[in-house]
Amino acid sequence: MVARRVIVRGIVQGVGFRPFIYRLAAQFGLKGWVHNTNEAVHIHVEGTENSIAHFIQLIRLQAPPAANITALEIEAVDTAFPQNFEILHSTDVSEAVTRVSPDIAVCEECLHDMQVQPHRIQYPLINCCHCGPRFTIIEQLPYDRPHTTMSVFEMCELCRNEYTDPSNRRFHAQPIACNHCGPHYTLYYWKDENRERIDDIATILDSMAKAIEKGKIFALKGIGGYNLICNAQDEQAVAALRQLKRREGKPFAVMFRDLATLMQYAHVNDHEAQILTSFRRPIVILPSKKSLAPSVSIGFPTIGAMLPYMPFHYLLFDNLSCDALVFTSGNMHDEPIVIDDGKAMLEWERKVEGIVAYNRNIRNRVDDSVLAVTEAGELIFIRRARGYVPEPIRVEGCNFEGVFAAGAELTGTFAIGKGNEVILSQYLGDLQNYENHVFYRESFERFSKLFRFFPRLAVVDLHPDYHSTLFAEQLNVPIFQVQHHHAHVASVMAEYGISDTVIGIAWDGTGLGTDGNIWGGEFLICTPSNFERYAHFEYVPLPGGDRVVEEPWRTSIAYLYHFWKDEIFKMNIDFLSKIDRKKIQAIVLSLEKHINCPLSSSAGRLFDAVAVLMGLGLKPSFHAELPMRLEALVQAYEPFSPYSYEIKENIISFAPTFEQILFEMGQKNQTHIAKRFHDTLIDIALTICTNIRLEKGIEKIVLSGGTFQNKYLLNKLKTMLMQTGFQVYVPSQLPPNDAGIALGQMYVVAMQTKNR
Ligand code: ZN
Ligand code: ZN
Ligand code: FE
Repeated sequence: MVARRVIVRGIVQGVGFRPFIYRLAAQFGLKGWVHNTNEAVHIHVEGTENSIAHFIQLIRLQAPPAANITALEIEAVDTAFPQNFEILHSTDVSEAVTRVSPDIAVCEECLHDMQVQPHRIQYPLINCCHCGPRFTIIEQLPYDRPHTTMSVFEMCELCRNEYTDPSNRRFHAQPIACNHCGPHYTLYYWKDENRERIDDIATILDSMAKAIEKGKIFALKGIGGYNLICNAQDEQAVAALRQLKRREGKPFAVMFRDLATLMQYAHVNDHEAQILTSFRRPIVILPSKKSLAPSVSIGFPTIGAMLPYMPFHYLLFDNLSCDALVFTSGNMHDEPIVIDDGKAMLEWERKVEGIVAYNRNIRNRVDDSVLAVTEAGELIFIRRARGYVPEPIRVEGCNFEGVFAAGAELTGTFAIGKGNEVILSQYLGDLQNYENHVFYRESFERFSKLFRFFPRLAVVDLHPDYHSTLFAEQLNVPIFQVQHHHAHVASVMAEYGISDTVIGIAWDGTGLGTDGNIWGGEFLICTPSNFERYAHFEYVPLPGGDRVVEEPWRTSIAYLYHFWKDEIFKMNIDFLSKIDRKKIQAIVLSLEKHINCPLSSSAGRLFDAVAVLMGLGLKPSFHAELPMRLEALVQAYEPFSPYSYEIKENIISFAPTFEQILFEMGQKNQTHIAKRFHDTLIDIALTICTNIRLEKGIEKIVLSGGTFQNKYLLNKLKTMLMQTGFQVYVPSQLPPNDAGIALGQMYVVAMQTKNR
C-alpha cells in the first residue's frame, strides 16, 4: 500500500473533473480524497503501486471533454489509511488563480435526459458536469453554487440527491436544476395594450414556432445575452430585423437545425465541422452553397453559421419546420449585447412578437464567438467571446502578475496578468461608444474580483485619447506605453513564446506611430522588448482625419490626388462623378493647404481607396465593409499576378499599382482586379522580407493586424513565405485585430522589465 498526492492544474473546475476522479478511483479500488482549491485540484490516493500508476495515466487520457490539463504533479506522501474515496469540500487556500471554464454547449447525454428523465422532460435549462453555463454565471472562485447566479434557486430533493451522489453525472454540477426547482422560461408578449405572459414551455415553443413561420421576430435570452431571431429563409422577416437593428449593415449569423442541414447551405470541410460541433460552438464563416434570404448575407459569398448550443435551441428546432434561424446579437447601435430582462423589454417590447426570457441572471455578458478556419485547420478569430473566454494564454518563463494591459480602442479588449498567464477579456466592442466603455469598466471590475487581480502596473497604447488609455490612467499605477504595431506583432510572439528577433508584418486600419503619424502598413524588426521600423507603405494625407473611416471616398481621392494632382479630373474616373463637386473641391483645398490631413501609411485605408476606385461603394454600412467586399471578389485559384509597385529607400509607393488598376478597369472584371491587388501586397511582402533576410539574416516572420482577417491574404502570404524558406507565425488563439493587442502590450512590458 502506497500513497500519492496528485495536483492537477488547468481547466479542471466546473467541467465534471472531481466526479470523474471519483469514478476513476473506484474503478481501481483506490482510497483517498479529491478536493478543489482555488489553485488546482488536489488528489490523495492510496492503493497498490500498479493501480495508482494506471489511475494517473488515465487522468489525462479519459478527462471530460471540456477539461484542459496543463500540469500534473505527482508526489509520494505518507499513508493515512482512509476508509473510502471521498470528494471533500472546496477550500480557499491562496490568492493564486484557478481557471474558470468557458460556457459549454449542452451535451448529448443531457439532450437524451431531456426526453426520458421524468423531472427534466423538455427542461430547457438542463445541464450536467460536462455542459452548461460557466463563465456567464460565475461571480467568484472557487466555482461553487453559492458563487453563481444559481445561488437563489433551492435544489429539490431529486436534484440534491444527484448533486451529492459521486457516481452521478450531475455530482456537484453547480447549475443543476429541473422542472421542479430550477429557473424557467417565460414568453412575454403584448396584447391589447397589456403585457401577457406564458410560462408553460410547450406552449412557449408552440407559439414561437408558429409565429416564426409567419415571419415574426423574437428576442431570445441566450447564455451570454439576448439574441434577435427570425426565419432565415423569410426575406420579409430578415429585412424587418435589419430595420429593427438600424445602423447595422453586417451580415447576420445563422443557426442551422443540425450539421447535415448546414451542409446543404454551406461548404464545410472536416476542420470546420469539428469546430462547429465542438463544445465551444462558435459562429464559423463558411463559403455559402445555397442561398437563404438575401438580407442575411447582403451580397457576401459567405455565411456566418453556427449550430444549436442551448437545450432551448434544440427544443425550438423540434417545433419548427424551417432549416435555419437568423441569430444576431441583441443590441442597438453597436452597443453591448443586452443581458438584462428589463432592458430587453424597454428596447423591444411591441417591436418584436415576443421576448423570451428565463429567470436566471447573466453575470458576465458575452457575445457569440466568430471565426474562420484556414485550410490547415488554424483559427482566424474575428471575435473571441463565448466558449473561449476566459481561457488564459500561458507564456512560459514570463511573469505577468499584476500587469493590466488596456488594449486599444476599436475592438476593446483588456488583459490581466496572473503569474505566467494572461487572461483576456471578452470582446467589448468599440470603446468610442459610451455603453461599451461602461461595459469595459464593469468587466474590469468583474475580472478583478473573479481572478483576485490587483494591478501594480498598466500598459497602454501610445494614443493618448483612447478610452482604454484614459481608463488605465485612473488606476494610479505606473504606466508603460507600447506602440500599436509593436503590440500587434508581440501578441503573436507571446502566443508562440518567441523571444528572439522577427520580421513583423503589421497591417491594419490605424495605430499611432512614434513619429505622430498614422501607421498601418508596417514592416517592423521586432524583439519582444523593442522594435525598429524597417519599411512601410508610403504616407498619404487623409483629408478630414477620422472622417475617412465613414467616408472612404475621401481616401480614394487623396490617393489619386497624391499621385496625379489635378490630372485626375481629366481621367474619367467613375466614382468622382458621384460625389458633389463642391465636396471634392474642399478636399483638394485641404490637401493643398495641409489642413486637417494627418499622414497615414495604413493598409486598411489602402484597401478603402482601391475599393472605392473599383466602384464597390462610397460609404460603408459597417466597419471594414469595403475591404471585406474587395476580399470577397478574390478567386483564390486564379494565377498569381501582382501589379507593379515601387520601393524607394524602403518606402512602398502604389502609384504604378493605381495606374494599372485604372487602366484595367475599363477592360477587366472586378474579380480580376481584386485578385491582382491582393497579389501585389503579397509580392511586396515577399520582396521586403527577402531583402531583410539578406541584410540581417532574420528567418522568422509574424503576420498581425486587422488586415489579416482577410483569409486569402493571410493564407496565400503565409504559404508563399514558407515556400521561400521562412518560418511564419500567425495569430491563432486571438484575433489578428485590435482585440489581440492587450497580450502584446503585456508581453512587451514583461520582457522589458525582465531584461532590466
Ligand atoms: Zn450535460
Ligand atoms: Zn430539481
Ligand atoms: Fe490595429
